[in-house]
Amino acid sequence: MRNLREKHSDLPKKLTPKARREAETKLRTDGRHCPTCLQRLASLSGKSQTANRCAACGAHRAAGKRCATCHEESVWEGKTSAACQSCGAHGSKLRVVAGALER
Ligand SMILES: [Zn+2]
Ligand SMILES: [Zn+2]
Repeated sequence: MRNLREKHSDLPKKLTPKARREAETKLRTDGRHCPTCLQRLASLSGKSQTANRCAACGAHRAAGKRCATCHEESVWEGKTSAACQSCGAHGSKLRVVAGALER
């Protein structure tokens, strides 16, 4: 059995799959957690701005790329996966980044 809980330490332990998905979406879109790995982002000192890079997984806000689901320019890109900070969509870059599937 693989223990995936360590990566999601911000979540309560006992959740139904649906509740877990909703809790994860909340974390992804709250601006204080990395949308791709759900680790808490280091806040920028002195400003209320949200961080745009995750120290844990190396994901960063992909400027100029749009979410395939909500078309907001709030996509974060990691090495292999991507996630949208606006609607909480996540998965492979092909699924999340608008236009990546074309061609
Ligand atoms: Zn991350
Ligand atoms: Zn989106």
